[in-house]
Amino acid sequence: MFNYLIIGSGFAGSVIAERIANILNRKVLVIEKRNHIGGNCYDYKDENNILVHKYGPHLFHTDSKDVFDYLSNFTEWHIYQHKVLAFIDGKKVPIPFNLNTLYEVFPKSLAEKLESKLTTKFQYNSKVPILDLLKEEDTDLNFLANYVYDKLFKNYTAKQWGLKPEDIDPQVTARVPICISRDNRYFTDKYQAIPKEGYTKIFERMLNHPNIKIMLNTDFKEIIDIDYEKKKIFFLGQEFKGKLIFTGMIDEFFNFNYGYLPYRSLDLKFETIDQEYYQEAPVINYPNDYDFTRITEFKYIHPTKSDRTTILKEYPKTYQPNIDIPYYPVFTKENQELYNMYKEDAEKINDLILIGRLADYKYYDMDDAIKRALEVFEERVE
Ligand code: UDP
Repeated sequence: MFNYLIIGSGFAGSVIAERIANILNRKVLVIEKRNHIGGNCYDYKDENNILVHKYGPHLFHTDSKDVFDYLSNFTEWHIYQHKVLAFIDGKKVPIPFNLNTLYEVFPKSLAEKLESKLTTKFQYNSKVPILDLLKEEDTDLNFLANYVYDKLFKNYTAKQWGLKPEDIDPQVTARVPICISRDNRYFTDKYQAIPKEGYTKIFERMLNHPNIKIMLNTDFKEIIDIDYEKKKIFFLGQEFKGKLIFTGMIDEFFNFNYGYLPYRSLDLKFETIDQEYYQEAPVINYPNDYDFTRITEFKYIHPTKSDRTTILKEYPKTYQPNIDIPYYPVFTKENQELYNMYKEDAEKINDLILIGRLADYKYYDMDDAIKRALEVFEERVE
């Protein structure tokens, strides 16, 4: 009856399901472990009538017109440019660290000197990862690099990953570079916006199609068996002749055969505050203070009139298999090698397609996951 089985209804699974249903006009069953669709992008209106992101803040940003146009089929947008402050030595200063931040943390004469050094050395509007800035030999630039490393990256990264910045893939800290500009925005992508009615509505519209059936509250292992030796897939006891698209953890798919892939998890603590606004910005990072990494105030992201406000504190922690939610793959060389072993096995099963943050073991942003799903649909599904 079904031509395709899709495990997981986050962006990777939902985009492919939508394409199969609309473009190929074939039948898809989406199997979802949770009691809702949308994966970690799921949002809902809480008791304060504020739209909150159940699994932490999701801010859509992309340079890809294709991705933006594609998503625009399922939502209207409200224009939103994300801003983040970091609490450093008792002050809340703009990050990514930029030329404006210099003047917030240093006396004017020192800030001027550092600005001049930075703009002489680097092109205006360029972005310099902290691990690159640390290699600068000039005494002033080296002082600045160490300051930013110590105050912004070292302790935040220790909380977030349990690692030093230099022990994790450089792409991770490069997500928040030092910006040689006066731009205080967190992202500089061409398209930055928030879906007017939230992310969950996007998923509802993507999956609302007669060719798509959704099975919630179902672990794939309850209805799918894999014969790893014979490389065959069984669905409800019968050999399945269609394609299986798996968006969960690649190590779980292979029964943790080579060992557990490390992930980072979070404890997310929502609080209602009995005042109209709680903080000065949508997100404030606390690199050095407290055990949480950041506080998000959702009212800024989805403007709402309410006497109360909802905030979210994020407490990172080690992921315990079968207990915690795997939010982030831990990007180290060793873990990548373990992932590659699983990937090789996956490639041997013809009708299996792995995709998404967990199955590809990649730190995808939402737009990366959508882009990859659209590519995989064209390359391997169609
Ligand atoms: N980071 C940091 N201090 C900050 C913000 C970010 O050290 O104030 C580092 C940290 O290692 C973090 C990474 O940069 O995990 C990426 O940050 P981003 O805000 O992109 O993380 P996400 O929103 O994906 O959790």
